[in-house]
Amino acid sequence: MYHCVNCGAEVAELYTRYCPNVLKLLKCDQCNHMADKYIEYDPVIILVDLILLDKRAYRHLLYNCDLKPWWKLVIIIWLVESFRNLSLCNDNENNTGTLKTFQHNFDGYCNLYLILFKTAFSLAAYVVIVIIFTKIKWFFYVKNPNKYSTTHLSKAIVIGGSGKLLGLLEITWGHIFLAPHYLLILGYTLLCWLTAYSVVSNSGKLESIVVLGIGTLVYIYASNFSATMFESLELMY
Ligand SMILES: [Zn+2]
Repeated sequence: MYHCVNCGAEVAELYTRYCPNVLKLLKCDQCNHMADKYIEYDPVIILVDLILLDKRAYRHLLYNCDLKPWWKLVIIIWLVESFRNLSLCNDNENNTGTLKTFQHNFDGYCNLYLILFKTAFSLAAYVVIVIIFTKIKWFFYVKNPNKYSTTHLSKAIVIGGSGKLLGLLEITWGHIFLAPHYLLILGYTLLCWLTAYSVVSNSGKLESIVVLGIGTLVYIYASNFSATMFESLELMY
C-alpha cells in the first residue's frame, strides 16, 4: 500500500499509466492533492528536499520507494561510526576530553574488533528501545495501530541515522577531534531522526523527542556498559 506524501493517508495507486511514456498522477481522496508529486521529480531534487528535512520527501522515500538495499546503509553507518570511535580512541590528546561526554568509555581499549562490537551493540540497543517504546505507544493508540509497520519504523531509524555519514567529511578533512564539528553533525542527525520518526509513527514533536531521547540515553548507557563489561573481562583474564 502506498501513502500520500502530503497527509500520510493510504492510497491504492499513485498514478495511471496510459502508455510507456505517459502517466497521470492521481490525487489523494483525503487532502485532494497529488498523492506523490516526487514520482516525476529528478532524484537530485528529492535528495535536496531530504537534506532540508521535508516530511513529504521522507514519506516518498519510506513508503513509495522500493528501498530493498537499506541494510547496506546500516553497515555503512556502523563502519563510519566505528571508524570515528576508533580514531577518537587512538587519540591521546586532551582535546578529545569534551567529546568523551558523548562517546564511549574508551580508556585503554582501542581494539578494532572491540570497538566494532561496542558500536554495533550501542546502535542495536538504540533501535530496539525506540521500537519497543513506539510499539507500546501504538498499543495504547486509539486509532487502528495495525496500519503501522515495524519495518517502516526500522527503515526510518536507519534513514534518519544517515546524518552520521557526515562523519565521513570529518575523517576526510582531518577535523575529527573538534567538538563543534561533531556537535553540528550530532544535532543534524537528531533532526533527521526526529523528522523520519515523526513521519512513520505519526507522532507530534514532543512525543518523538521523548522516545528518541530515551533511545539516546540507552545508546550512551549501552556504550558505557559494553566498555565496562570488557574491562571486567580483561581484569579476570
Ligand atoms: Zn493526502
